[in-house]
Amino acid sequence: MRVYNFSAGPAVLPEEVLKEAADEMLDYQGSGMSVMEMSHRSKTYDKIIKDAEADLRDLMQIPDNYKVLFLQGGASSQFAMIPMNLMKNRVADYIVTGQWAKKAYQEACIYGKANKIASSEDKTFSYIPDCSDLPISEDADYVYICENNTIYGTKFKTLPNTKGKPLVADVSSCFLSEPVDVSKYGLIYGGVQKNIGPAGVVIVIIREDLITEDVLEGTPTMFKYKIHADNGSLYNTPPAYGIYICGKVFKWLKKRGGLEAMKEYNEKKAKILYDFLDESSLFQGTVRKEDRSLMNVPFVTGSEELDAKFIQEATAAGFVNLKGHRTVGGMRASIYNAMPIEGVEKLVEFMKEFEKNNA
Ligand SMILES: *Cc1c(COP(=O)(O)O)cnc(C)c1O
Repeated sequence: MRVYNFSAGPAVLPEEVLKEAADEMLDYQGSGMSVMEMSHRSKTYDKIIKDAEADLRDLMQIPDNYKVLFLQGGASSQFAMIPMNLMKNRVADYIVTGQWAKKAYQEACIYGKANKIASSEDKTFSYIPDCSDLPISEDADYVYICENNTIYGTKFKTLPNTKGKPLVADVSSCFLSEPVDVSKYGLIYGGVQKNIGPAGVVIVIIREDLITEDVLEGTPTMFKYKIHADNGSLYNTPPAYGIYICGKVFKWLKKRGGLEAMKEYNEKKAKILYDFLDESSLFQGTVRKEDRSLMNVPFVTGSEELDAKFIQEATAAGFVNLKGHRTVGGMRASIYNAMPIEGVEKLVEFMKEFEKNNA
């Protein structure tokens, strides 16, 4: 039996995709082997990775002057790869809205002068600071944000004013959840295990003029965007099976009407949960309303004991992985693209019942 999996990541994937992958496990389209067993230089695999890129470009309307790279090392490897490749002046501005942005900022400090130009740490990252007129450094190579804060459940609804500097965004937990204007960014990246596919793959969408030979001294070959861009993400063996699953998810999203349709669906799902949190006498959301994420919804009862009881009873009822991040406690429901609306409706019914029984 499949449960309703509210994990923040690795997270729920579309059942249809998993079934298709299962059907193709032993013999991928008459090749007599699994995608895991085939050469990444074969014609069959070449079509898989090329189709994946074409479908992603189509979904996100990625302009021609951007490269799409399928890399490994998860989102965290980008915390270093970004400064190594982009910090020409060894200066970058970071907006710190959560643990992931903080880690990226700390990593950048190894390579140059990273400036924390805004932060919401004063209120446990429960809001997005006003980024309309920040003190952007004159010689900043880029401005960095984590667009959706997985742990705290906040999302940038307006992109910061970078005063002409390239914007670099970690979109791991909001990737493909709604349409984006790629041309507003210098670099967009995300680990795929939140909203797209299996852990290990990280997708980088980077404007071509930012891909150069001029990287920090000592940058390993594997950490140069240029080597991967010049080789169509096939410089070495890519995370081949993961990319194949991502490709299936892209097709699934296209079949569902693309990112406009997903946005509508995600808004509908999130509203069910937020509306309940706003009227509940027991549960409360922890984020400033205007900054609420569509993907990660943290909430508390106000009592650690009740939180623990709720998580335990919810798990027994088939609503799993609702425990909040270890650094914040409480609960968090991650309701990514593949979480069906019934999952959210049933969770809210369960919460109402719990509220009544624990009044
Ligand atoms: C999960 C997550 C990461 C870390 O991803 P890894 O693939 O484990 O390195 C980074 N940023 C955000 C926003 C995340 O949600």
